Amino acid sequence: MAEVKLESVSKIYDGKVTAVRDVNVTINDKEFVVLVGPSGCGKSTVLRMIAGLEEISQGTIRIDEKIVNDVAPKDRDIAMVFQNYALYPHMSVFENLAFGLKLRKYEKQEIDRRVQHAAKILGIDKFLDRKPKALSGGQRQRVALGRAIVRHPKVFLFDEPLSNLDANLRVQMRTEISRLHHQLQTTMIYVTHDQIEAMSMGDRIVVMKDGVVQQVDTPLNIYHHPANKFVAGFIGSPTMNFMNGTLKKNRHLVFQQDQSSFSMPVPKTLEEKLKVRGQTQVTLGIRPEHIYAHKHADVETVSPFTANIEVVEPVGNEVFVYFSTGTEMQYVARLATDSPPTIGKPFQLLFDTSKVHLFDKQTEKAI
Ligand code: ADP
Repeated sequence: MAEVKLESVSKIYDGKVTAVRDVNVTINDKEFVVLVGPSGCGKSTVLRMIAGLEEISQGTIRIDEKIVNDVAPKDRDIAMVFQNYALYPHMSVFENLAFGLKLRKYEKQEIDRRVQHAAKILGIDKFLDRKPKALSGGQRQRVALGRAIVRHPKVFLFDEPLSNLDANLRVQMRTEISRLHHQLQTTMIYVTHDQIEAMSMGDRIVVMKDGVVQQVDTPLNIYHHPANKFVAGFIGSPTMNFMNGTLKKNRHLVFQQDQSSFSMPVPKTLEEKLKVRGQTQVTLGIRPEHIYAHKHADVETVSPFTANIEVVEPVGNEVFVYFSTGTEMQYVARLATDSPPTIGKPFQLLFDTSKVHLFDKQTEKAI
């Protein structure tokens, strides 16, 4: 059982670099929470403060209600898995797994039992006599996981644990860690810069930027209801398309782009909100999968426009089509493979206007 609670937590390095600002997040018992954001946004610093590897400048961190600000890392009952595995090269897999338990003076029988159990869960029981250098990257990462598992910690912390693995192995280990979470039923906090990892693994995601939490929610809520333009652009691949526009009196959004302009009706769902706010300058966001080549039977509100096709990128089950609408701005649509457009030829595309997001142009907050 372990709940981890961060209350107004900040980290200021050397009295001047504010790496983390006023973070308030509660990670529930047994939850898998992913901290995600671009490099340098402060996610590792948050994790290291939870681990006790970094002092907390302001605020409090509680594990199961108990304030741990001044508790030594070894007494926090948490285990951390790093990106570089940090295995001892001169020790066998067994010894690597047993090391932490020996230090804590566990009995030999208990050490054996825990090591065998963890090795079995991770499928490395055949390699217990090998040295790390005789293992593949994936197997080494499993040993690093095993070393955390044998300790039966209250909380697992992961700092970009899959970054050193190739793409296929990363996908495989991703599902393995999710399975592990399901099996162990322990609180897990996972740091990554990879939004796909965050989306696929997290019960909830904490999106960070410049040391500040932008949004905390389930993957799907974050995808469908991003709190601001940053989150909208960071989550999802290819990324959401943005364009600035002006709201005209006839309730159309007009997008003026150099000489050309096009307009689309204000989506019903957003009309009221816009009216209340009296806003005229907005940024529109639309995900690549909400731009269509044909009208879908169940979609009522589309807004057609002519696209100049610049790049067509087949990715197997669909094509990513990069296009412009008369300016330097480039947009992308995800289309079915049946009738892909041709580069250089104008092509009619449709916006699903019921799916657009609007953001305040100044604050970038979702409207
Ligand atoms: P992330 O994990 O999101 O890549 P970090 O938590 O590692 O980000 O870093 C957040 C910010 O704090 C960055 O600007 C980084 O340069 C700075 N930082 C990290 N560690 C230190 C340190 N020991 N001393 C000074 N600044 C640091």
